[in-house]
Amino acid sequence: MAFSFEVLKTNENGARRGRLTTPHGAIETPVFMPVGTQATVKGLRQEALEELGASIILANTYHLYLRPGHELIRKLGGLHQFMSWRRAILTDSGGFQVFSLSELRKMTDEGVRFRSHLDGSEHLLTPERAAEIQLALGSDIAMVLDECIETPAPRDKAEAALKRTTAWAKRARTYFVEQASKNGDLPQWQFGIVQGATFADLRRASAEQLLELNFPGYAVGGLAVGEPHEVTCEMAAEVTALLPKDRPRYLMGVGRPEQLADYVSLGIDMMDCVLPTRAARHACLYTSEGRVLIKNARYAQDTRPIDPKCSCSVCQRYTRAYLRHLFAAQELTAAILASHHNVHFYLDIMRQIREAIEFGNLANFSSEMRARYTAGPG
Ligand SMILES: [Zn+2]
Repeated sequence: MAFSFEVLKTNENGARRGRLTTPHGAIETPVFMPVGTQATVKGLRQEALEELGASIILANTYHLYLRPGHELIRKLGGLHQFMSWRRAILTDSGGFQVFSLSELRKMTDEGVRFRSHLDGSEHLLTPERAAEIQLALGSDIAMVLDECIETPAPRDKAEAALKRTTAWAKRARTYFVEQASKNGDLPQWQFGIVQGATFADLRRASAEQLLELNFPGYAVGGLAVGEPHEVTCEMAAEVTALLPKDRPRYLMGVGRPEQLADYVSLGIDMMDCVLPTRAARHACLYTSEGRVLIKNARYAQDTRPIDPKCSCSVCQRYTRAYLRHLFAAQELTAAILASHHNVHFYLDIMRQIREAIEFGNLANFSSEMRARYTAGPG
């Protein structure tokens, strides 16, 4: 089955309701992609992800390259087979993790040389290598290697990173098209990544340069890394205004529950974030009334579910008092139940957002959500 993307409906404000078709199923957009760093979404079995209705998950190239190795995964039939996940997978390029986790990074125009955070072994990640690893993993959507920099960044640094990101994108695209088209149809969709830190003109320049490479989809990278939410939105808006309307747009690494609708309003179709599972492991639960910090003593005898309005299987069965006890006793099940609920909550927000776009009332949904999250019980 070939890849395709169609926009089914666009709201006046630019929010889009679409469908991304992959060889591993169709993805209704806007979509939230749970993060499965090490070929597992922490605390959730694939059965649970299916039950939750996740249509696509993200996996980290950096981690899988270092352990167990992309060649091993290729030998075992590719990432879908290896992890027994029949739905879609997006892999990142590994760049972000090299910048944030590895030691002794050395950037050159050729690529980035780094030491593994696991055993100190030395590696060179180039745009071609990142594409090759992702082809071996066999993900549905692959990302090009980009240069990630710390934010806020001085202008000269942002300009240099942007220049390198474009040069790398060209190399990645050339390599990918050559390699991937050897056997006929492309087995993957490769997305470009717009950089440019928090400079509007650099963001526009980056988008324009990448458009020349004719990627089937575009991501906005290097945002939501500490800058104010308004700035994230402003930069994303600069980019989406330039991107072709018939291709998917992916805002990387976002966001908080009350922010998701904002990004959708800017014309974003895809998002990913570790927040629902990470917060779950830290006993922070997202509910329709706001955050519930379940370790709080006030929940010790609370026999209500985490969220009385939630339809997830955890909320159908367990009480806040029980969850609080599991966290207090440091039981593994605490993280498992909390992750299940939080991922359900995120996926359910996206279901509501898709519905709101269809009915043309996304703005109402967004302001109600924000009100609940500023006034929540905590
Ligand atoms: Zn629930």
